[in-house]
Amino acid sequence: MKIDVIGCGSAFSTINNTSSIIVKDNDENQWLIDCGPTVPRGIWERGIGPNEINVIYFTHIHPDHCSGLAALLNQWKSFERTEPLDIFCQLEQRKPLEQLLALAIWPENEISFEIHWNDIQMAFSWKHWQLATAKTQHEMDNCSLRITLEDQVFFYSGDGRPTAATKALMQGADMAFQECASFEALESSSSHGDYPDCVKLLVETGVQALGIYHCFDSAIPKIESVIADTDGLFLSRDGLCLDLTELKALQHKVFSESNKPINQ
Ligand SMILES: [Zn+2]
Ligand SMILES: [Zn+2]
Repeated sequence: MKIDVIGCGSAFSTINNTSSIIVKDNDENQWLIDCGPTVPRGIWERGIGPNEINVIYFTHIHPDHCSGLAALLNQWKSFERTEPLDIFCQLEQRKPLEQLLALAIWPENEISFEIHWNDIQMAFSWKHWQLATAKTQHEMDNCSLRITLEDQVFFYSGDGRPTAATKALMQGADMAFQECASFEALESSSSHGDYPDCVKLLVETGVQALGIYHCFDSAIPKIESVIADTDGLFLSRDGLCLDLTELKALQHKVFSESNKPINQ
C-alpha cells in the first residue's frame, strides 16, 4: 500500500493544501480520500490522468474536505474520462455532493462516465480492499477509515477528535493519520484533536507510526520543535509519499532516528 499526501493543512491554511491523501495498491487502484478546494491542483500537478482514480471517499462534507469535487469532476468531464467512478459518502451527506456534481457539468446534465454512489457502512469491501469505519467526535458526523490490504493496515481519521470507536479501529495499524488541530490540549468535548492527546494515542493504540495533520498553521512550529522527542510520531506534509511495504520491511526503523520518513 502506498500513501501520497495531497494535503495536510487545516481548513483555512495559507501554507498547506487542504487535507487529503491518495491510497494506492499494487494493482494501480487508487482511492482519493477527501477533496477540499486545493486538492484538484495537487492531483493535476502530479500528472494523475482523468481515468486513474477509481474511488473518492468523503470522511464528511465540511467544505475543506469536499468543495474541490466540482472542479475535479469538471476536469474529468473536459478530458473525457471513461472509467466508472465510485463515490463513498454518508447517506445523509450525499445531497450536497450531488449538487457539486451538478455544478461540475452544468448546464448539461450528463457526464461521460458512470458514477456509482455508495453509502458508507461500518464494514465493507471494495475489490480486495477491506474497509471499516468509525465516527470521530466532530461538528458533523465524520467517518474515519481503516484500510486493510493483504497484511497492511492503514488508518485515516478525517477530521475530529479520537473516540473509543476510532481508537478501536486504530489498534495495531501499521500506520495511522490523526487530525491534530492544536498544540495545546483542548477540552475533551472539542471537535478537534490536539498534540498531547496524539502522544497518548500512539501508546494506547499500538500503531507503529502515527502521522499528525490538519494542524492550525500557528501550531506547526511548536509541534515541529518537540515531535522528534516521541518515537513513532511524525508530522505529515504535502507531497509526503509513504510505502507501507518498505516501512514494514524496515520494521519502521526509519521513524526512530529523526522521526522523518526515509522516502521523503
Ligand atoms: Zn477539516
Ligand atoms: Zn470537519
